[in-house]
Amino acid sequence: MEFIAYKEERDFEDNYERAKVYNEVYHLLVKADSMTCKGCGKEFDTRDLQVHMYDHDGGWNVGLEKKQWLSILCEDCGYHTSFSKLRIGR
Ligand SMILES: [Zn+2]
Repeated sequence: MEFIAYKEERDFEDNYERAKVYNEVYHLLVKADSMTCKGCGKEFDTRDLQVHMYDHDGGWNVGLEKKQWLSILCEDCGYHTSFSKLRIGR
C-alpha cells in the first residue's frame, strides 16, 4: 500500500496527531482480507483511499481519545465499506 488520503469528519489537533492516526489506520488496513468495495465490487485504489472516521464505541482504536468507526468511501457508487466488512479485527 503506497498512500492513503483521508477525508475525515473530525479535525485533528495537529499534524503529529494526524500522522499518528494515519499510521494506526495503515496498520489496520494491511489486515484486510480484500480491498474491494462491498457496494459495487470495485477494487479500491490504495494510493487514493478515502478513509472516513467518527467517534463510535464499537469502533477501532487509532490512538485517539475515543474509538473510531472506520470506513472507505467508494467514489464510484458512494457506498461506505466499513473495516468490519473487510474483516479487520479490533
Ligand atoms: Zn463501490
